[in-house]
Amino acid sequence: MKVDLHTHSCVSDGTLSPSELVERAANHGVDMLALTDHDELSGLKEAARAAVQKGIRFIPGVEVSAVFGMDESIHIVGLGVDTGNKVLRSGLEKIRQGRALRAARMGKALAWLGIGDVYEGAKRFARNPELVNRAHFARYLVSKKVMPDIGTVFQHYLVPGKPGYVEHEWVSVNEAVSWIRAAGGIAVLAHPGRYRRLSSDDMSALLDTFIISGGEAIEVVSSAHGQEEISRFSGIARRLNLMASVGSDFHCERESRVDIGHCAPLPPGLEPVWSRLT
Ligand code: AMP
Ligand code: MN
Ligand code: MN
Ligand code: MN
Repeated sequence: MKVDLHTHSCVSDGTLSPSELVERAANHGVDMLALTDHDELSGLKEAARAAVQKGIRFIPGVEVSAVFGMDESIHIVGLGVDTGNKVLRSGLEKIRQGRALRAARMGKALAWLGIGDVYEGAKRFARNPELVNRAHFARYLVSKKVMPDIGTVFQHYLVPGKPGYVEHEWVSVNEAVSWIRAAGGIAVLAHPGRYRRLSSDDMSALLDTFIISGGEAIEVVSSAHGQEEISRFSGIARRLNLMASVGSDFHCERESRVDIGHCAPLPPGLEPVWSRLT
């Protein structure tokens, strides 16, 4: 079975509409797809409808932005969430409100570049005005030829310690997991290999917090992971009895290293999270 449980549409920082995303998944032979936009559920209805037409099993999802420790931004994917749940909806709304303030501060922080109003420019790359994130800023700065590509923009301007980086007051890992569970979803620790600033003790503490909060799965296969990380997080999943998830984290054709449905297979001896989703 071909599974992809982590993807983005233009409702957050992907570029395809929810139905275009489902169509792409269908063309790639995906059997089960989750749409997991950042802090936003508004693309799920359209995607679910398109999935029925294409005969794909669709899992309503979300990727919640949280923080661990002082300033490590952690993403928690929720799978199989009830989109009408008030706890989840109001939590996500709170995050989106904070995003607008932060984006305005990012715009101010980047004003010295002298290319005009950077927040306004970034907004033109976002179809959802409530969800202007660093990816939209990066796309705008590339369009203005400030840097040749997205990765370089992040490296020079948008990561901690760089001039355009503004920390969001994200919610705690505990809150993010509790909202997902309140909405009947399974909480998945997204792309753990991306949290490179965490020491191995910090990673253990993060996993403890995640599990105590009710987190049940970890993304073992992700576009952010090479073979080494797949092995490392398979070991962690087995040791801590976490279910394993697989996701491309597809945003758009130009920027994504792994296309929808092109994820590596899950190593043996793991309990796939989709065994609980069917
Ligand atoms: P934000 O929610 O504003 O912190 O933005 C996070 C988003 O920026 C992620 O979901 C990715 O889509 C993108 N992103 C983060 N780091 C990088 C990077 N190093 N290169 C490219 N895109 C990145
Ligand atoms: Mn993103
Ligand atoms: Mn993420
Ligand atoms: Mn993602």
